[in-house]
Formats: sequence, C-alpha cells, structure tokens
Amino acid sequence: MLNASLQELASALADRRISSVELTRSVLDRIAAANPRTNAFVHVDGDGALAAAAAADARIAAGEAGPLTGIPLAHKDVFCTEGMPTTCASKMLANFVSPYDAHVVAQLKKAGTVLVGKTNMDEFAMGSSNENSHFGAARNPWDTSRVPGGSSGGSAAAVADGLIPIATGTDTGGSVRQPASFCGVTGIKPTYGVVSRYGMIAYASSLDQGGVLGRSAADCAPVLSAMAGFDPRDSTSLERPAEDFGRDLGKSIEGLKIGLPREYFGEGMDADVRAAVEAALDTYRSLGAVTVDIELPNSRLAIPAYYVIAPAEASSNLSRFDGVRYGHRAAEYADLAEMYCRSRAQGFGSEVKRRILIGTYVLSHGYYDAYYLQAQKLRRLIADDFRRAFGQCDVIAGPTAPTTAYALGAKCDDPVQMYLGDIYTVAINLAGLPALSLPAGFGDGGLPVGLQLIGDYFAEARLLNAAHRFQQATDWHLARPAGE
Ligand code: GLN
Repeated sequence: MLNASLQELASALADRRISSVELTRSVLDRIAAANPRTNAFVHVDGDGALAAAAAADARIAAGEAGPLTGIPLAHKDVFCTEGMPTTCASKMLANFVSPYDAHVVAQLKKAGTVLVGKTNMDEFAMGSSNENSHFGAARNPWDTSRVPGGSSGGSAAAVADGLIPIATGTDTGGSVRQPASFCGVTGIKPTYGVVSRYGMIAYASSLDQGGVLGRSAADCAPVLSAMAGFDPRDSTSLERPAEDFGRDLGKSIEGLKIGLPREYFGEGMDADVRAAVEAALDTYRSLGAVTVDIELPNSRLAIPAYYVIAPAEASSNLSRFDGVRYGHRAAEYADLAEMYCRSRAQGFGSEVKRRILIGTYVLSHGYYDAYYLQAQKLRRLIADDFRRAFGQCDVIAGPTAPTTAYALGAKCDDPVQMYLGDIYTVAINLAGLPALSLPAGFGDGGLPVGLQLIGDYFAEARLLNAAHRFQQATDWHLARPAGE
C-alpha cells in the first residue's frame, strides 16, 4: 500500500479492500519506524488521524466519498492547523497551537483527507536545504548524509521515503520544486492567487503560493484541485470557478511546443543534471513534442531581484512576532523595548535574522530607490521575458536545480552559494507563473534529478498532463530509496 498511487488507494478504499483506519495505521507505523532516519515529520497526531480515518470510513460506507476521502496526508508546518502545533520550524512558534485552520487545511479536511501530522521545513520557509530548522535538519532518504532540499524538505523526504502518499508545501522561490527535485518526487506550484494564503504563515506575500508534493502528477492533480479555489479572506485570491486540474490527464502531447531557454542550458548546470535533463527532453520528443529554442534574457537578474524583494517583504511580515500576543517571549527584560529585542533575538534563527536585516536595509530611507525599487523594475522585465517566450511555445523546460542534493553542511557557511542554487526557480515566482518539477532520472551517486516545466498563467492542467505523459512513458517516479 505504501507504493500505491492515490487512484489505487481510492479504489481500494471504495471496494473495502482496506479501510482508512487500516491505511492510516500502516502510515503511522511506517512513520514511527522510518522518521528517525530523515526527520521529515516534526509532529505526528496518531489519535487525531485515526479519528479522522474512522470518520472517513463512515463517509465511504454512506456512499459520500470523494476521490480523496480517507487518504492520509501531511501538511508543511507553515500551514495553521487548529488544535495542532504550527511552528514554522522556529523557536519563535515552538509552542504555538493554532486556533484555526488555514484555508488549504480546511479544504483538504472537507475533501475527507486524514491529517497525520506536520512536516519539517526551513525556519519560516527561508532556505533551500531544510538545515535552518529549529528541530534539526531533515535528511534526504536517497542518502541521509545529504540535504532533502528546502524549504519544503520534510514534505519531499516524507513522500519520497513512503511515509505519506501526499504532502503540501509552499513555494516562494522554489520551495516545492527544488526539494521535489532533490528527493525524486513530483511537486507543483500553481499560478499566484490560485491557492489561498489564509492561514499560511507569510514569508514574502507577493511570492508565496501553496502547492503539493506527491509521487506523480496524477497524484498531485486531485489534491491541488481540492486545495485551490477563491477565498475572500485572502485579498490576492483569484475569483475563478473551481477547476479540475486533472481534466487533461492522458491527452496527447503530439505537437506540444517545449521552449528551451538558452540561458538555462549554458554554464552553471552540473554535467550529471544536464545529461538527465537532455535525456528527458529526448523522451518528450519521442512522445511527439517539439522543442524550440527561446530566450529569457533577464534570467541572471532573477536572483538579485528575488533576494531583495523576498527579504523586504519578510522583514515586514515578521514584525508581528514581537513576544506580545503569541510566540516566544524572553523570560527576563527591563522594559517593553527590551522585551521585543530579546524575544526576537532568542526566537529567530540566524538565516531569518539575516533576511530581516537585509529587508529592513533595502526598504530604509535612502536605500529604497537603489534596491527595492530597482528590484521591482527587474521583476517586471523578468515577467515580460516569460510573456514573450509564451508567444513561441506552450511550456518551458529546463533543470529545476543546477545540482543534485548536496551534503549536509556543504553550503551552511556561504549563504550566497545557497542562494545561487535557486537560479532556475525564483524567476517563476517573480512572474507569478505555475511550474512543476518531475523526476527525470538519476545523476552521480544515484541521486534524483528533477526536470522543471513552466507554464503560462493558469496552465496547471496542461503542465500536469505534460508530466503525466512523461510518467506514463518512464518509471523514474516509481523508483524508491533503498532505506537502511
Ligand atoms: N530558497 C528560497 C529562499 O530561501 C526559496 C524559499 C521558498 O520558496 N520558500 O528564499
């Protein structure tokens, strides 16, 4: 059952070959046995999960089941979950129990999924390796001396290692796609505004978007359909009719025009990543797709623009953590100002502090025009590049990350090196486009390589089908780490 697709699980539940309680028990057993290896979960709620599973079984028995009823899932610990810890992997929120559910959490509960627990992440979703976690790094199940990627590293590791069939993530600059790539799973980040940010703890509000990680595109589609949709509580939520993102699955991709940006295939990509990506493109050609060369001339400006805009928004968003209403409060202080200072100094980790400092600096009087405003202009240029490119192709393909998973600790002392690993992912968030990463093969040392597919606005269904067709023709997504 741990390797079954969501569709297989749903039909086993519908035919009563297994109950949701049995399925949930097997997930809980698997987590108990294997989580120490990867530290993918930071919180597991066995009793709550079994109660939700029993309720799902009742729904199934009453003939009221949907495609996700009774399916166990995990949420990245950035989503507020009522009555359950919501920590953002920060000491600041280590004891915070949310009084309400995020929209995504509520939607997936409504669909009958069984919430098993919360997954590890970089503190406040800031990072690319999951090493910035108050609860310790998550590890890559393919090689536990390596990072799973980040910031949704716990979700990616948990899915890859068969701890859970499906998990949510968030993607501000690649945090769904890059860990999916490092762990050999499929992860999609939709168009900005498709998934409500209500109850999703804010990092950089104009870039943050909820997404999903699963073994295959076919597994991700129904989960994305359930979690998306208009929500008046998020002012950037898009008023669009509900969509079935799986509606195109199985359609032919004969004649699909895949754009290959010259800038993504130049210097910078490791040879083993390049080999896997090129082979994946050959597979697409054999499926009838055609590749066309395109240009995204401002690609190299994406990292500098992102690493000004994201910290600027973060510095503002994180001002709410002041020790007054919730979160960590210093035990000793002389006055109010010292209470703020000490609470924040103690509650935040060093990467979060670095970003608050950078963000405050680029927004400050005298520097705003030189940094923040310039970055906003670059953001426009980057979005215009994509707009032009989609005049020439249907989807854009390239690597998700320039390397495979690196060793724990390898980039901790050099934040800029870490930031540069986001070269292929951050531009997509600056433009607000949908994109996914799918397993495309293995590089040196048997480590997974991800192929990134980028779509025009609202092309989620097309992207998922393009990934699905590839997954019907290959079995990279079915490979599982050996375990120990
Ligand atoms: N790695 C990027 C960062 O550190 C992206 C993180 C994310 O998408 N949440 O900001």
